[in-house]
Amino acid sequence: MKNADLLKIAKTFGDPVYVYDSEKITSQFNRLTNAFSNVKHLRLNYAAKALSNLSILKLLNSLGSGLDTVSIQEVNLGLLAGFKPESIIFTPNGVSLEEIEEASALGVQINIDNLSILEQFGNKHPDVPVCVRINPHVMAGGNSNISVGHIDSKFGISIHQIPHLLRIVEVTKMNINGIHMHTGSDILDIDVFLYASEILFENAKNFKNLDFIDFGSGFKVPYKSGDIETNVEELGKKLGKRFNQFCTEYGKDLTLAFEPGKFLVSEAGHFLAKVNVVKQTTSTVFASIDSGFNHLIRPMLYGANHSIINISNSNGRERYYSVVGYICETDTFGNNVRINEISEGDILCFKNAGAYCFTMASNYNSRFRPPEVLWHEGKAHLIRERETFDDLIKNQVDVKNLFEKKKEKAGV
Ligand SMILES: *Cc1c(COP(=O)(O)O)cnc(C)c1O
Repeated sequence: MKNADLLKIAKTFGDPVYVYDSEKITSQFNRLTNAFSNVKHLRLNYAAKALSNLSILKLLNSLGSGLDTVSIQEVNLGLLAGFKPESIIFTPNGVSLEEIEEASALGVQINIDNLSILEQFGNKHPDVPVCVRINPHVMAGGNSNISVGHIDSKFGISIHQIPHLLRIVEVTKMNINGIHMHTGSDILDIDVFLYASEILFENAKNFKNLDFIDFGSGFKVPYKSGDIETNVEELGKKLGKRFNQFCTEYGKDLTLAFEPGKFLVSEAGHFLAKVNVVKQTTSTVFASIDSGFNHLIRPMLYGANHSIINISNSNGRERYYSVVGYICETDTFGNNVRINEISEGDILCFKNAGAYCFTMASNYNSRFRPPEVLWHEGKAHLIRERETFDDLIKNQVDVKNLFEKKKEKAGV
């Protein structure tokens, strides 16, 4: 997207505002599909939690994607967006049996990640095919918040508990049709990922009725220059080849599944916010924007580095700025970063704002969540309105006369 288009969107829809480029989502989807063209049956299930606006879900549905969901609400969003139940997989962590049964009754593929629920579900619904989430205990990535494959992780059924798992399957006579892993959010090293995949293949042999093997996600996208990006072409070549080999050994053409979130939508997103104040202190120049971690929490929560550019003055001289929000506690988006000279009123653009940005936004400090705009075929479409004061108070219950008596007594 061009800066001029973004500036026009900020002018038309106000700021702050999220903007998503449908072309980038499409090209990322096609890139991943092409990387695995050596595999007969490939299934990409977009992880809805990254960005769950209905228009984005509809776009992915139109591309032929499936949907990976982690809550019954995401399942229902997917159905509302037009996904067929059989194109949706439900991969929750630690939810109740009731929620899993509710999703199952809607016809979506269930993925269970603990032995307790597996046994309860298998006893009640032995005819419903179930996928199991395995924890191969491989740590992919350095950030302890997002590495979910290691030994202490709450995710998945440990490979060391496979014998127990098999006993449950035998006793309940349930049908395991898929095996799944999601090791973490960063495939930094393809060999580490292939190593985890080997563990999955090894364990897959224990299940005789598989339809698919799901390798989760963890595709890394560059956030700043110099960042490592997962080489999906190399991964496709290596994993695809190994997968085909496994299918031959197994005696059936299985489906290879992934559930990418960030890879598909991160780079398609732009977050636009206006600079309210430029404040020079003795050591730093602060640029305070009309937003905060209520709208974009990743820098504060994960230390994520979103590149910031001044689209109002993209040819200006570069200077050092600390870009901060308006929340009444520290909310720093960039600490002494080089940006083209900023004047009050300029629009800053935060890159990589498609994944885990709007979906993690809140009303902290009683601010409205921003609107979302989809840039599609050269046109801007409003796909979510900015909240209003009514949205803030809509669920609050104003109990009448709750404090009246006290006042009267005080008056006597
Ligand atoms: C979050 C999540 C994903 C998506 O991860 P990305 O890093 O955004 O690609 C996939 N699968 C599961 C089970 C998840 O929880």
